[in-house]
Amino acid sequence: MTSLDDLPLRDDLRGQTPYGAPQVDVPVQLNTNENSYDVPQAVVAAMVQAVAQVAPRLNRYPDRDHLALRRALADYLNRTPGLGITPQQVWAANGSNEILQQLLQAFGGPGRTALGFTPSYSMHPLLARGAGVAWVDGAREASFDLDTRNVVAQIREHDPDIVFICSPNNPTGTAVGLDLIEAAYEATRGILIVDEAYEEFARRGTPSALTLLPGRPRLVVSRTMSKAFALAGARVGYLVADPAVVDAVQLVRLPYHLSAPTQAVAQAALAHTDELLSTVEALKQQRDRIVTEVAALGLAPVPSDANFVLFGGLDDAHDVWQRLLDHGVLIRDVGIAHHLRVSAGTPDEVTAFLDALRVVLTERPS
Ligand SMILES: *Cc1c(COP(=O)(O)O)cnc(C)c1O
Repeated sequence: MTSLDDLPLRDDLRGQTPYGAPQVDVPVQLNTNENSYDVPQAVVAAMVQAVAQVAPRLNRYPDRDHLALRRALADYLNRTPGLGITPQQVWAANGSNEILQQLLQAFGGPGRTALGFTPSYSMHPLLARGAGVAWVDGAREASFDLDTRNVVAQIREHDPDIVFICSPNNPTGTAVGLDLIEAAYEATRGILIVDEAYEEFARRGTPSALTLLPGRPRLVVSRTMSKAFALAGARVGYLVADPAVVDAVQLVRLPYHLSAPTQAVAQAALAHTDELLSTVEALKQQRDRIVTEVAALGLAPVPSDANFVLFGGLDDAHDVWQRLLDHGVLIRDVGIAHHLRVSAGTPDEVTAFLDALRVVLTERPS
């Protein structure tokens, strides 16, 4: 059998492992921070109709600039008063992962460096390496928080071309203040990417970095429809930045990267924003319930602005992960010693998780 070693693979990809959150078919799946609620039937009907409308013209390439979708995304963001986002500031792709890849290709590339603050989203370094960008693992405080002075010092030390700040941070859950984003922007000569995949779940009083965009052309905010909008399967993410950043990513994007059905589905979803986002409050309640209940079990949850909770205090996290899976509950071992991450699902799913966790914690270690 041919192995990777037999192929003329890029040297810098040898020994790397691909992103691989387990996809296991078990009753309770709380491992990838998806929205547990199905797309409502009324929205499904609108999506099917929208796809039916574009289907006869699938012989033609889609709108390369996906202008109608960018307009709809700007309208969605402008529900927050005072932002004044224009469609020219918005650019969409197949998930925010593709957005981040385009940014790394446009502003990174071989010989350049990206800095992130670990633990954070595991795809940031993988996407960087794929684009030939050297990755620097910056550090967080022991509490997983970011400290402004420490962030600024690390940016000055490494002088990166691209800085990633994930807020709310995956896998730890907490958002940072805008003062930290402002200071990080001032400290870097490079592009500052604020990954706001979970922004819709942030606790009250946590403002988005979108408010900082005016006058900061090197600031990019990335967002996704995969989480709050319950649309992970559709693959739609987007960035918001100065229109010049949108010009820059067009130098590296594949032509017609966003298919006509994808654009149609995303627009149908945005036309039903209220229905789709109606689950956000319920998910936030379940998140807060997880924080309260795992603390009551003597464990140590990290404060969360997202639809998941990281909790510590486990002797053998991987063993607990495996035994929860044996009970039909799949959560995530993110590789942080003594910690596991669980997504906030429906009330029944969270009950199943908490019940299984109680049993696992009282069982003798295997
Ligand atoms: C889930 C997630 C994304 C979303 O990726 P998509 O490609 O849009 O599905 C982006 N960033 C972070 C930090 C995430 O956790």
